[in-house]
Amino acid sequence: MSAFDDLYAANAKFARRFGDSGLTGRAARGLAVVTCMDSRIDPLGLLGLKAGDAKILRNAGARVTDDVLRTLVLAVYLLGVERVLVMPHTDCGMAKVTDSDVHALTKERGVDTRSLEFHTVPDQNEALRHDLIRIRSTPFLPEGLPVTGAIYDVRTGRLTPSPH
Ligand SMILES: [Zn+2]
Repeated sequence: MSAFDDLYAANAKFARRFGDSGLTGRAARGLAVVTCMDSRIDPLGLLGLKAGDAKILRNAGARVTDDVLRTLVLAVYLLGVERVLVMPHTDCGMAKVTDSDVHALTKERGVDTRSLEFHTVPDQNEALRHDLIRIRSTPFLPEGLPVTGAIYDVRTGRLTPSPH
């Protein structure tokens, strides 16, 4: 028994029903979504999408980090992305702690994480505003690329567009 046996078993079933969709790696709906790693978020389901439609970029807090920017550049120029939705969510763990809290927690386990930036979110609206500006102002993405933000409510399933 390994820690991953359940996954291989499930995949064997999946592959038996799987037919090559003929999809390419391009985003069929021209969309990239930046969202959180929170396990309650089903980005394809909540946006009416299916496999092949969109690039989904996930990290803790749905933050626009250097690596997210790098990935968006590739998604736009190589993989058919023509619009970007940044989608944080309610009840996000990243909005409940500070970087110092995380450092203190890991220290209790004997690990020094002070060289990591966790990009915790003291103010979710402010963080979203900042992240949208980061995408809109990067010199590496085309001018006029549609970029918007919306908060996903994990209790209602509803998406509320951000005013930013
Ligand atoms: Zn989250």
